[in-house]
Amino acid sequence: MEIKIIYKNLCPNCGRNISSERLIKGLACEFCLPKETDELNSGFLSKIEERNKKLKDFEELFERVIKGKMWALQIFWVRRFLEGESFALIAPTGSGKTTIQIILSLYTAKYLKKRCLIILPTSLLVHEVSEKLKKFNEELDLNVQIASYHSLLSQKEKMKEIEKIDYSEIVVTTHLSVMKREEINRKIFDIAFIDDVDSFLKRSKAIRFVLRMLNLPEKIKNIAENIFENKINQKEGISEILKIKEGENINSQLIVSGATQKVKKTKSIAILNSIFGFSIGLKPEFGRNILDCFIYSENTMKEKILDLVKKIGSGFLIFIPMDKGSQFALELENFLLENGIKVKSFLKPDKKSFEDFKNGVIDGLIGMATAKSPLVRGIDLPERIRYAIFSGVPKFIVRIKVENFHPTRWLMLLNNIQPAIKDIYKKDYENLVTDLSKLKSLTKEQIEEVRNGLVENKTLKGILEFAKNVALKGIEFFKKIMEDEDVLKAIKESPTISLGLEKDEYIFLVSDYVAYLQASGRTSRLYVGGITKGLSIVIIDEQKAFNSLKKDLGYFEEIEWKDLNEIDIQKVIEEINEDRKKVKLATEGKLKIEETKIYLKTRLFIVESPTKVKTIARFFGKPSKKKYDGVDVYEVFGANSLLMITASKGHITDLSLNEGLFGIEVNETFIPYFKPIKRCLNCGNEMEEEETSCVCGNTKFYDSEIRIEILRKIASLVDEVIIGTDPDSEGEKIGFDLFLLLKPLNGNIKRVRFHEVTKREILKV
Ligand SMILES: [Zn+2]
Ligand SMILES: [Zn+2]
Repeated sequence: MEIKIIYKNLCPNCGRNISSERLIKGLACEFCLPKETDELNSGFLSKIEERNKKLKDFEELFERVIKGKMWALQIFWVRRFLEGESFALIAPTGSGKTTIQIILSLYTAKYLKKRCLIILPTSLLVHEVSEKLKKFNEELDLNVQIASYHSLLSQKEKMKEIEKIDYSEIVVTTHLSVMKREEINRKIFDIAFIDDVDSFLKRSKAIRFVLRMLNLPEKIKNIAENIFENKINQKEGISEILKIKEGENINSQLIVSGATQKVKKTKSIAILNSIFGFSIGLKPEFGRNILDCFIYSENTMKEKILDLVKKIGSGFLIFIPMDKGSQFALELENFLLENGIKVKSFLKPDKKSFEDFKNGVIDGLIGMATAKSPLVRGIDLPERIRYAIFSGVPKFIVRIKVENFHPTRWLMLLNNIQPAIKDIYKKDYENLVTDLSKLKSLTKEQIEEVRNGLVENKTLKGILEFAKNVALKGIEFFKKIMEDEDVLKAIKESPTISLGLEKDEYIFLVSDYVAYLQASGRTSRLYVGGITKGLSIVIIDEQKAFNSLKKDLGYFEEIEWKDLNEIDIQKVIEEINEDRKKVKLATEGKLKIEETKIYLKTRLFIVESPTKVKTIARFFGKPSKKKYDGVDVYEVFGANSLLMITASKGHITDLSLNEGLFGIEVNETFIPYFKPIKRCLNCGNEMEEEETSCVCGNTKFYDSEIRIEILRKIASLVDEVIIGTDPDSEGEKIGFDLFLLLKPLNGNIKRVRFHEVTKREILKV
């Protein structure tokens, strides 16, 4: 016998009681739908149906002009937009965010009767976007009035556009014109699309104008203005804005695209957060789909590289390990040029070489293999970069001398030699690691100061004096262990520690897994069709350093190293080329979903605790965060999807004591009643649904009903819901509740069980 359950006050449509029978069918309660086949005419579910109808209309417009289907990400953005949300569009290559914004503004102006403002960073972009707007407007026969203003227009054209602004439903312009032209910034709009939010945020004045131009309650505008003018305290002002928002709906929307390079907690960001409820995220780090290979060099390093680039062809990056020095990069450049390979060294950021490489004028670039190298940081060309060659294992030399003091490198060395440390040195070892860890954030200049202080035996101030003492302690520690014959023997025999001699002094070669991950990562990027395949080849120059690289990487990524001689290189090259073609099509907006094997989905991932949410989100780079009524939701790209990760925060329902016998109705069958959890925030007392104050007198409480509502709302936005509650009996109960309560909002719900919270485990499930 199936046990029937009643959920009190949890009908997704009306908030009355609902049975598990109705929920599992994805339906509303008997009150909303007396017969299962009836149609809803009001309530939450019917609103979602309405939204889905609008989405259908929108899809039709989209398909008529684009001649293809929308990507899952685009559908997700449109749903959020129709929901009235403000948000940041963070998108991988080729997901067509400009296209979506253009069609959205046309749709909104025409059918929702709202005025749109589109702000772009450059005049050229304004020109391009407005041309597209006009083209689509015509093709779809919408008759929407569009004005565009930018500096490339002639004086006469400018006048004409300015006149049009008054009655235009869409206005497109630049960041700068918004600030400069009163004819534009005196107007009021319902929706603002801001492109390239990073450069926009640098102009706090521009944000003030946009806030003034949006259709917001005057009270909020005044407070924001006063915060900017320093007339009121930021914290007080923001809490006032939040209070106003409780009583009044914000009808205007702000859609920004792009992410910031660095999140600074500026006034502007704090104000935007409070009004629109979203945080502007950091640039996400995307996934990895790389074939990691190694090969030994039977002739010289340079000849081996020549051999490889001749075989695999154009579109390569060559990384030189730090221990070989930049001189080697220049020598290699000459050698390859002499042999007819078009290549350029890239030791400093250099626009010309970048463009030449991008356009295929040259075949590859040569740079240093460090996390800070411009070739590692500044190059994002997924359609162009096909493979990476490491001219030796990425590594650096560590010298234990005052003039070579370097906290992070010393730490990496300590990590490297850890297996050789005898018990009697363990305590000193741990202390040194702890102290050096405190110095990780020292700048280059500060480290230089410490070195000088050491050489000249000067007293320094604060953290620098501390650093000086740590350096001395480090030198003493190494001297002590290297004089111990057991340790020295263990180091020499270790398969992962490479020790060398330089003028009678010991030096260490330490492999740099961070540099390897980031440098090889250039060959594989997330785009709308999935993650491109990349190839990375390490030419082994030092076996021990390679062993150590393999070991260190093992903690982060599941990498299966392959001998280059044992793989079918032609097949790999074909796969790589296939993906490059697709990326190119995607960036031109010509790639169709049907032509991809996998593509990005949108998923809601629910775990039990907020701490776990954070841990998981961080596996996939720096997440962006959005608050829904006090519930934190993290957004990341991972596992071929846009993941929205949030927590159930433990149980979401509990037996109701008001019904029958301890919440169980006993007639002919047993029917348990479950209710949302309401708990006093002061004393922790569990409260009944209808109680508005606790026995302790407190009126503030945690209510799982709010969380359920938010989970339902997000579930209605995504392709799939994944329930990842713990694999114990409590987790199963929470998962069961979630499944039933979310079913009416999303037909695709999966249960996953992971036993440890590691990236590997999560990608697996
Ligand atoms: Zn109902
Ligand atoms: Zn209480």
